[in-house]
Amino acid sequence: MGPGAVTDLIVSLTRTVADFPVPGVQFEDLTPVFADPGGLAAVTEALAGIASGADLIAGIDARGFLVGGAVALRLGTGMLAIRKAGKLPPPVHAEQYDLEYGAASLEIPAEGIELAGRSVVIVDDVLATGGTVAAARRLLEHCGATVTMAAVVLELTALGGRGVVAPLQVHSLRRI
Ligand code: AMP
Repeated sequence: MGPGAVTDLIVSLTRTVADFPVPGVQFEDLTPVFADPGGLAAVTEALAGIASGADLIAGIDARGFLVGGAVALRLGTGMLAIRKAGKLPPPVHAEQYDLEYGAASLEIPAEGIELAGRSVVIVDDVLATGGTVAAARRLLEHCGATVTMAAVVLELTALGGRGVVAPLQVHSLRRI
């Protein structure tokens, strides 16, 4: 399937919900894309093509696990789950980032995974403001990994995430 056809499929299967989770936000729900056999296969194939050469895929909690796991399986790499705070037993490496109100943090285990010298691609469903991908990158790089790019299904261009994560390259299958 060509890039245009993948984008068309994502467009046709995405459910857009106004004013969720808070008034003024247009939530782009990719659940129907992943629930569709053709949709999951097309997204996985396209992102795997973009991420080929990575020796580890890092998927961000929680929808990044779904697509990241599928891409890692397709590429024959492992899949590192980057967790939200409080999900992993200690010791962890953690990286804080700002939300609209307050802060959040992402975590990975500090033992059992060697990241030094690894070539990692970050995978998530949606790039919005870019804060989450930027924090994931800092976390991985503090552990010695080289993050080569971020690959997402959908990029919300008006929110400027691409500029926030720069100079890290972002590849997206659909841009709104
Ligand atoms: P951000 O840090 O702003 O780039 O947000 C990224 C995360 O929030 C992604 O993992 C998305 O799952 C989720 N997200 C943010 N905004 C939206 C939106 N408008 N529609 C769907 N998911 C969103």
